[in-house]
Amino acid sequence: MKTCLSLLLLFLGLCQAQPLVGEQSVADVLEDNEDMDISTRILISNNGTSELLLEVSSAYTSAEKSRIVDALQSFHQSTCIRFVPRRNQYDHISIQSRGGCYSYLGRTGGMQVLSLMRSGCMYYGIMQHEVNHALGFNHEQTRSDRDQYVKINWQNINPSTVYNFQRKNTNNLNSPYDYTSIMHYGRTAFSINGRDSITPIPNSSVQIGQRKGMTRNDFLRINRLYRC
Ligand SMILES: [Zn+2]
Repeated sequence: MKTCLSLLLLFLGLCQAQPLVGEQSVADVLEDNEDMDISTRILISNNGTSELLLEVSSAYTSAEKSRIVDALQSFHQSTCIRFVPRRNQYDHISIQSRGGCYSYLGRTGGMQVLSLMRSGCMYYGIMQHEVNHALGFNHEQTRSDRDQYVKINWQNINPSTVYNFQRKNTNNLNSPYDYTSIMHYGRTAFSINGRDSITPIPNSSVQIGQRKGMTRNDFLRINRLYRC
């Protein structure tokens, strides 16, 4: 009950719409430091707290806002993450409808925009995906141990998007590689020829990528990282 109330406060007029600026669609995670693993980043940026200050643009309709609340609620239900309405604090996440679905990785300080464009991003799984980036999580197929689980077919990938497939120095929190993670791309993501950009190994027929909702492992990782 307390959870619902605090989320509802987000929409009681405390939130101000930001002017929408012309912005190109970008890869959905924006990073400022490629080398730092997520645990280090979180420890530095969150000062040990699992509370995140948040505001939601008033440009969304009430139906859209309740979709956002639904997605945020899933974190309250299964983790110790708590989204708290921002009043006038400096550091916060601002959910806005900009040019695409994207988020910064971890906390950047100041106002960080998490963009959920009204046309195209108002889906439960997509919202969860972007919030996971803000919590510090990379795409599953860029995990440090990914080469044991997937083969990246560089020849099938649009050259301007190859950075989405670079392996990263991640801390995997002793969680298994999860083909069905909300953070895993589908097998033809950024393909230039319709062929696989990502092929699971050794069994190439395993299903990969979905945007329906977070898995047990997705929640497990948050709970480990934030020491819930
Ligand atoms: Zn993403």
